[in-house]
Amino acid sequence: MVKYIFVTGGVVSSLGKGIAAASIGCLLESRGFSVTLQKMDPYLNVDPGTMSPFQHGEVFVTDDGAETDLDLGHYERFTHARLSQRNNVTSGRIYEQIIFRERRGDYLGKTVQVIPHVTDEIKRWARRLAEDAEIVIVEIGGTVGDIESLPFMEAIRQLRHELGRDNSVHVHVTLVPFIAAAQELKTKPTQHSVKELRAIGIQPDMLLCRSERPLSDELKAKISLFCDVDPKAVISARDVESVYEVPLVFAEQGVDEQILRMLGLEGRAGRRDLDRWIDMVGRLKNPQGEVDIGLVGKYVGYEDSYKSLKEALLHGGLAHNRRVNISWIEAEELVWPDCVPRLQAYDAILVPGGFGKRGVDGMIHAIRFAREYQVPFFGICLGMQTMVIEFARNVCGLDADSTEFNPATPHRVIYKLRELKGIDELGGTMRLGAYPCRLAEGSLARKAYGVPQISERHRHRYEFNRDYEKVLTAGGLRITGETPDGTYVEICELPGHPWFLGCQFHPEFKSKPLEPHPLFRAFIGAAIEHRERRLAETRALSVPTAHGR
Ligand code: GLN
Repeated sequence: MVKYIFVTGGVVSSLGKGIAAASIGCLLESRGFSVTLQKMDPYLNVDPGTMSPFQHGEVFVTDDGAETDLDLGHYERFTHARLSQRNNVTSGRIYEQIIFRERRGDYLGKTVQVIPHVTDEIKRWARRLAEDAEIVIVEIGGTVGDIESLPFMEAIRQLRHELGRDNSVHVHVTLVPFIAAAQELKTKPTQHSVKELRAIGIQPDMLLCRSERPLSDELKAKISLFCDVDPKAVISARDVESVYEVPLVFAEQGVDEQILRMLGLEGRAGRRDLDRWIDMVGRLKNPQGEVDIGLVGKYVGYEDSYKSLKEALLHGGLAHNRRVNISWIEAEELVWPDCVPRLQAYDAILVPGGFGKRGVDGMIHAIRFAREYQVPFFGICLGMQTMVIEFARNVCGLDADSTEFNPATPHRVIYKLRELKGIDELGGTMRLGAYPCRLAEGSLARKAYGVPQISERHRHRYEFNRDYEKVLTAGGLRITGETPDGTYVEICELPGHPWFLGCQFHPEFKSKPLEPHPLFRAFIGAAIEHRERRLAETRALSVPTAHGR
């Protein structure tokens, strides 16, 4: 019998429900169980693919090409679950299906209603995962009390009833704010949130109380009394430096132990094995030095839109026991050649993915800087495309551009994906998900991955135009990754440069703290070497010589 854990949130949004769900998954895996996770998002967009990253944060892409909520990124980084289309559902997707069926006449004259039609469909989505793992963790987006999340709450209430008490657990994530004037942690918002949950028929089994400081036993007892939750199941989810500490904070308070007992699984549980995780967190908190990376892009300040990238850089640093300091550089501020001294402060430059024309000139200046000054450079998706444009312009002397930024450009070195020509809608028209890529012998990529063929995830509309392959390679650019059928260019490099690589895919989606991605590991390695060269040069310059005196 598959077991379910439902995770809801109360009081305010942004409490880290996704991290909490992922951490529970991590802990249960450490006890020997297989887990999978699902995010249910109450908004009406069919998927987050068309939502602004300003509003919604990163769009995470799965192997099968689903554009999903960024929480799926946490799920994959914290567990071994293999996620797909089926692991993220929105109200929009559910209504789309129901309305389609209604128009087709499937309901045979019945009145189509939220209960039972919408709730049944939600339950179907949750039940579909039963074959994937021993334990399914379902996280409901939004906050208890939101109008739009009500059908989801009702569906999981019904589901608990159908599954039986012993086969499901309800975990509620709340806030226990610290009120400075009173110098006290306050439990009232949590009490209200649980009251709201009980009003819709859900009694939580465990409370994960987010707070700035640890909850005392006295406070836990108070929350326990008012909310009718076992005092041991009132968990102090205090703020931590790194999200990767959360599973350890939960482990200290026996979250796994209690959940397994509630699910009747304690007899089958193995000893908790978090050794590698503990070692990783230890290295993360005690780095042997640091490295400074300049990230040149748009949406600067909106770090959530580059969640996976930030994590992948951090993982790359972990592989070398270094702390990675990321500086978010607004591309629009860069002009040539004034940007040179500013960019010289970094050990490496990265241009991430993005859409639209704004900031592209600045990205091109940053790439020119990295190329001419021999600074390690990593271009991802848009970053590879701008790397090709920069090379075409400044090395091959072409008046080149991408048709995304200038449809009338004389040299379209980047142009719209062949198979998408003639399609103008924005939803669901991109090259999405995992595709194989063959790596060239003797390339940086081949060396980093250590294998001849890889699979990576994509999310783009434009591509390298192979009509320009001859002129660009004659200029010194090398194509080092392509699809096995030779259709798409996936990786470009610049031989002779210490580390200069652009890829059309998004390697950041597959990086994990325990398995840092090969390209990020290699990029950070190159950045460290550059840093050492840089420091050696400044030292040499500051040593007074006989001539200098
Ligand atoms: N805008 C570019 C394209 O659509 C790059 C996309 C990206 O960086 N994800 O191809």
